[in-house]
Amino acid sequence: MKRRPQAYSFRMISTVWTSMLCLTILWLTVLTNTAGAAPGHEGEEALFTQLKSGKRMATEKNYTPAEKPTVYLTFDDGPSKLTPKVLDILRKEDVRATFFVLGEQVQERPNIAKRIVEDGHALGNHTYNHVYQELYSDFRVFWEQVQKTENILQETMGVRPRFIRAPGGTYGNFDAFYFYYLGQAGYEIYDWTIDSEDARRPGMTADQIFRTVEKGPFGNEVIVLMHDGSGHDETVKALPRIIRLFKEKGYAFASLTPEVKPVQFSSGKPKWSRTETRESFDSLLAAAHEHRELWTAEDLPPGKDNALKALPSSSAAIAYAEAGQRGGPDRLNVHLGDRTLAFTKEQFRFRDGSYRVPLRPLIAAMGGNVEWNAERRMAVVRYGAITAEYDLARQELRVRRPAAEWDAEAKTRIHPFPEMELANGTLYVPLRQTLELLGDRVLSSDVPYERGTVDVQAAVYGGYRTGWIFETNRRNPFAQV
Ligand SMILES: [Zn+2]
Repeated sequence: MKRRPQAYSFRMISTVWTSMLCLTILWLTVLTNTAGAAPGHEGEEALFTQLKSGKRMATEKNYTPAEKPTVYLTFDDGPSKLTPKVLDILRKEDVRATFFVLGEQVQERPNIAKRIVEDGHALGNHTYNHVYQELYSDFRVFWEQVQKTENILQETMGVRPRFIRAPGGTYGNFDAFYFYYLGQAGYEIYDWTIDSEDARRPGMTADQIFRTVEKGPFGNEVIVLMHDGSGHDETVKALPRIIRLFKEKGYAFASLTPEVKPVQFSSGKPKWSRTETRESFDSLLAAAHEHRELWTAEDLPPGKDNALKALPSSSAAIAYAEAGQRGGPDRLNVHLGDRTLAFTKEQFRFRDGSYRVPLRPLIAAMGGNVEWNAERRMAVVRYGAITAEYDLARQELRVRRPAAEWDAEAKTRIHPFPEMELANGTLYVPLRQTLELLGDRVLSSDVPYERGTVDVQAAVYGGYRTGWIFETNRRNPFAQV
């Protein structure tokens, strides 16, 4: 009898512990649902399933159509001994082109490769050795060859090309995974609109090559496939006539830029049998995302997409980051008008001198709402008159304000946004850029200390004030806000 109460009390303690555990789990679940934006794992599983079914994932990037008919001459498989002859002709005709080079050829003839760049032409990556059986047996081989070639180009001439041409073209060779990984890594893949057929049949004469190109089609933007690899002497002979043809038709000549809309054949049924596992998907996607950081570090294309770079940022914060102090404060208080959003050290990130905070609680405190679109991997923010899409797949932020009476045209601005990251189902976004791109204003921010609490003060306008409304129209009724 004496032992019973003791046994009972053990049971009671264990019941209490179980209840506490359950409550903790419940509390954590609630916390995750409140603070967490994106169902990361579910989203990735759905994505994997779609790609596996062969479905290409839609890309949302905006390209700039050429203002006048433009031809992009492209030369594959070089550089070879013929390349200087091609370069001479292009120089004489004052024409810019694009060379999709092979890594092993650049290693053989680095000086010719350098001349391509010095003459003002664009370089593209055509893999290292062009061997189909290797490249299309497994994406990992393709990826390694692209990286190897890229490193050679980077070391030889300081160029990290964004353009890829698949040996043999994408048709029957690429599947949805190939397109997706390369897109995620920041590459643009170009097939062509006119095949000169200079490599399709042996013994094509210069005249036959010219006649093939002459058949067109001649759209507003034309990409011509030619080869400057060894053995293509007839292409060199045909080149002046091909250039004259396009000049007579009124075409401008240009090198490819990331603004040019890629031409891609539909994937078709791949000729190769490959198996993709969820594990390799995760690791390849991680490698692709890691690679994408390289562009933002050194090769962000010039032009309108650079708006983000021009945003003001705290010079003190930058100095702090440069000093190598990456720890950051213990607490971050964001004062949004009369509301305060408090983050503990675990709830925000401090990186490169800027704060990244979970998107959902931030937008909620600002008075907006967030929806996660798992299929397209993006968070859609509705904030007053503004819709903003945080597109994880494209690593860009699109901010759109609707048509209004003072300006009938709806406008979307696209900002490269590699700073956002998805971790454990939460989408973290840079605080200052998010506030300012959604029309709010950071009033003050403490110098980030290594410890302690930092306060950021912001004025919020409920999604009815955006920088470009001010720039473009003085009749904007919200300008008084
Ligand atoms: Zn080729």
